[in-house]
Amino acid sequence: MSESSPTVTLRVGVSSCLLGQKVRYDRGHKRDRFLSDELGPFVDWVPVCPEVESGLGLPRPTMHLAKNGDSVVLIETKSGLDHTRTMKAFARRRVRELRELNLSGYVLKKDSPSCGMTRVKVRNEKGMPDRNGVGVFAAILLQALPNLPIEEEGRLHDARLRENFIERIFAFQRLNMLFTGHWTRQQVVAFHTAHKLQLMAHSTKIYRDLGQRVAAVKDLPRTEFRDGYIGDFMTALSKVVSPGRNTNVLQHCAGYFKKQLTFGERAELTDLIHDYRKGLVPLVVPLTLIRHFARLYDIDYLKGQYFLDPHPRELMLRNHV
Ligand code: SF4
Repeated sequence: MSESSPTVTLRVGVSSCLLGQKVRYDRGHKRDRFLSDELGPFVDWVPVCPEVESGLGLPRPTMHLAKNGDSVVLIETKSGLDHTRTMKAFARRRVRELRELNLSGYVLKKDSPSCGMTRVKVRNEKGMPDRNGVGVFAAILLQALPNLPIEEEGRLHDARLRENFIERIFAFQRLNMLFTGHWTRQQVVAFHTAHKLQLMAHSTKIYRDLGQRVAAVKDLPRTEFRDGYIGDFMTALSKVVSPGRNTNVLQHCAGYFKKQLTFGERAELTDLIHDYRKGLVPLVVPLTLIRHFARLYDIDYLKGQYFLDPHPRELMLRNHV
């Protein structure tokens, strides 16, 4: 691994209106500045508007989700026309196409009866909204691609959720690259080694379980190993890291050069890690010093850890967590 994260372009699915495409029911859009301006230069977007692409037209009547017995339907608000079957058939076909594109992530439009991932309004029998629905297209996407990092643009305004999502899309791309073609045991071990501290920050238990799985890689059928590794790796990374967990990993890093550091250097690093834990400085501050010492004292193991550089520094995500 190079000392900064790879800046290869990622392919990421997105609700078209979030990129500024005028595809909403009233020909409007919901351009999201972070997605288009900040993440955009690193991403090859795959825009999808389920309502336009399934033939509902532009402009079109407003729609909502409604409870209908045990199921939830997608209906036009004024006429009550039911579009559930059309949307589900479209979603299954489109998601099959998306699967072939090897996406690294997906960003969905919140609150939409088609694209919303969580807490979408569903009108009950009395016409009252309960916030417990999932958009019809989003539900099929989530079910078909369970390991794919998927988020809503609204949740990405939270600094920790944003950092977690971007970390996951870059990691998922690396995983896909690893397991494309004929991967070897040595490649798996090298990949796992480079992600050890990152995994440790997210989940100590999964970090240990995956280590045992990698040690037994030659004893398992290849497909079983691959699917299990990808599933557990992505489950670990989906857990948002607390400052306390990051602090543990920072202290673990410091242990790699404690013999080389002068008294003053050691005190400076310890103070910065404490300041981070107390919320006085962001994560990037102690990390920068650890990267510096890893280079200065030539600690190969640390220089190869994605924990120090999980995504392009230009995104400045760790300046806010
Ligand atoms: S939320 Fe989804 S269906 Fe609605 S306009 Fe945006 S992309 Fe299209």
